[in-house]
Amino acid sequence: MELQILDKTFVPFISAAEIDKEIQRIAKDLHNNFQNEVPVFLVVLNGAFMFAADLLKHYTTPAQVSFVKVASYQGTETTGKVNQLLGLDVDLTNKHVVIVEDIVDTGTTITAIQQVINTQKVKSMQVAALFFKPEAYTQTVEISHVGFRIPNKFIVGYGLDYNKQGRNLPEVYQIK
Ligand code: 5GP
Repeated sequence: MELQILDKTFVPFISAAEIDKEIQRIAKDLHNNFQNEVPVFLVVLNGAFMFAADLLKHYTTPAQVSFVKVASYQGTETTGKVNQLLGLDVDLTNKHVVIVEDIVDTGTTITAIQQVINTQKVKSMQVAALFFKPEAYTQTVEISHVGFRIPNKFIVGYGLDYNKQGRNLPEVYQIK
């Protein structure tokens, strides 16, 4: 069924069952990667909250979980644009880090996050993104775990909003 959010119409795109299936696959791949090690999951708020909750319920051995927000501000002329990770409350030294993102579009956000994390001596860094838009991607960071490769069209639901609405929806809709 079509869905109206403010001035836009959306059509059903990916069901809750399909999302669950891909998340279970990603959780299994992550398990296989880490075996007996304890990774740190860095969940990028707000969009990744629902993905992270479901992903981590399927990751059934001990892990550290921390929630971060990306803040970007204009520094001095010499520093240019400065990116900061707010809420990072774990020491990432010698840790396997998994960045949990809702969607990678142009890749600007994930690249900024990676640059901040690379200033710490991590053991490894991977990205798990539920959605990836290859046509829009302009960066080089490898997106290690992708739920769905999708066309370059705006989506809402399952954590993703349109003008603050729709994050709660259990399935994903695409703009009409
Ligand atoms: P990027 O920095 O990769 O261009 O964009 C990442 C951010 O843009 C995501 O974390 C998300 O907040 C937003 N974004 C990109 N594409 C979409 C989309 O199709 N729907 C929604 N709701 N947000 C998007």
